[in-house]
Amino acid sequence: MNEKFISNNVMEQIVDCKLKGLMELSKMCTCERCRADVRALALNDLPPRYVVTRVGEVMTQCELLTLQRQINITISIMRAIKIVSQNPRHSDEI
Ligand SMILES: [Zn+2]
Repeated sequence: MNEKFISNNVMEQIVDCKLKGLMELSKMCTCERCRADVRALALNDLPPRYVVTRVGEVMTQCELLTLQRQINITISIMRAIKIVSQNPRHSDEI
């Protein structure tokens, strides 16, 4: 009984999985700061979904979602992209 288990917020993985494609589609800045801002805003907007896995186990939750969930997540990411692209915070740090 030396298996280790952890709880993962799969919503983070799902957002990561969709984020890049949607940001490229929107033609916004895709620097690390903007990407992190979009990710944080989208995740604040979405309910966390925790599942328990073995440590190191890789999950492929992306395909397991219902269409309605996929749509809700896409809408939240698009909303975050709009906010960040209208008010990017990357320039403060350059
Ligand atoms: Zn940027």
